[in-house]
Amino acid sequence: MALSVLLRQRFAVREITSKYSRAVGASYSSGYRVGNMPTGPETLPYQVVLTRTTEQQPNAIPRAGFYPQVVAARRFTTLSENRKVQESTVMGKVALNGAARMVEVEWSDGGVSRFPYVWLRDNCQCPLCFNPDSLSRRVLMNDLDVNVSPVRVKLQANGSLLSVEWPQGHQSQYDWQWLRERCFSPQARSEREKDWQRKTQLWGAELVHNLPKADFPAILTHDRALHDFLALLDSVGLVLVQKVPCDVGQVERLANRVAYLRPTNFGKEFVVVNKPNPSDLAYTTGKLGLHTDLNFYDHKPGVQMLHCIEQTMREGGESHLVDGFSVAYQLKEENPDAFRLLTTLKVNFCNVGLDFHKFFLRQRQHTISLNDQGEVQSVSFSDQARDSILDLPADQVQPFYDALKAFDTIMYLPRNCLRFKMAAGEMIVFDNTRTLHGRSAYSLDDIRHLQGGYFDWDEIYSRMRVLKIDLGIKD
Ligand SMILES: [Zn+2]
Repeated sequence: MALSVLLRQRFAVREITSKYSRAVGASYSSGYRVGNMPTGPETLPYQVVLTRTTEQQPNAIPRAGFYPQVVAARRFTTLSENRKVQESTVMGKVALNGAARMVEVEWSDGGVSRFPYVWLRDNCQCPLCFNPDSLSRRVLMNDLDVNVSPVRVKLQANGSLLSVEWPQGHQSQYDWQWLRERCFSPQARSEREKDWQRKTQLWGAELVHNLPKADFPAILTHDRALHDFLALLDSVGLVLVQKVPCDVGQVERLANRVAYLRPTNFGKEFVVVNKPNPSDLAYTTGKLGLHTDLNFYDHKPGVQMLHCIEQTMREGGESHLVDGFSVAYQLKEENPDAFRLLTTLKVNFCNVGLDFHKFFLRQRQHTISLNDQGEVQSVSFSDQARDSILDLPADQVQPFYDALKAFDTIMYLPRNCLRFKMAAGEMIVFDNTRTLHGRSAYSLDDIRHLQGGYFDWDEIYSRMRVLKIDLGIKD
């Protein structure tokens, strides 16, 4: 029986693409929409089509003025083997350029690539210089003569191999495609930069009407569903996973499908229920303000899963979710001074207590972190973990509080704060470097049982690269 569509992204969003190598990147407002193909005897049980849409989107975020034209550079690239190169391209001529200390390769389809001598020697692919099993370099910098020059070069195998002879008779051979993928030309490097672009889709409270969704059984069994779930998580920073069994252990199953759980001072995974002598405010029934988790780590967990096993039947216990990138850019637009303070002053975060072990974690973070291009790349905000030690001159304290208050006020605006009550069998998965979360209070005698866990972006991007290659997914 063909399954119905397992993943939907029907919401309209503003999609922003940044050019890593440029101070200000291009922007376009068309979205990618994930839709379903007609199912039939020849179709796979899981079908997803990505179509770029340019028509007016009914739910488009109307506050275009709030969004800058740049967003953080994408944090992953595809493997070079995935790059498309003309199959017919081979090398026509090769020559040494002693003055520039480069080997010049003329391609049969036109154009010249220049490869520096030292780079060629360092990247010799022979078994003495490169381990083909571990795919790692054997040449040690300690032994490398950085002023080495080839004795001679020639083309072999109808121009598909570059052969280089070095002093003392060492021979190197380089495949044309391998060389082409590593070309140093501005055009080739510019093309490779596309691999580092991140498509970030900013959102507000209206996302609640079309939450990005994924199907738990499909993620566990279909690689394409897993890939598309991770792609949604990357671009939107929030996915609602449905049809999750209502018992503990599901966050670990999902994390293991990606890579593995990221342990913290709360253990491999954690249960959110009302506990006596809580080691964290989450283990009470009170309201939890919007926050990102574990800002007291130098490298805080990248993604959080919260699985609802049992939900309160009465009022309260609803989740609050805010796109930290969107509200940071709104702050920049509305209150540039506050934005400047929150991107330059560091906040101490601290967590002391006992869970599995006694712990004393502390770290300093910018509330809003920017990358080299001035784009927002992470948000670290938590009232409960913000330390009373504030390493600022006394006269900067009031302006700092004014800035935090301004940021907090924007977060809680109805247009920004998505309110949503998870049902048992649902799991929210969100970017802990971007999406702030909180919850409303619930009754002391009510039962609410969540299980949470974390995994990291490096593992996600690694998994996505492997899936892209295995499934032949093109960007
Ligand atoms: Zn070698």
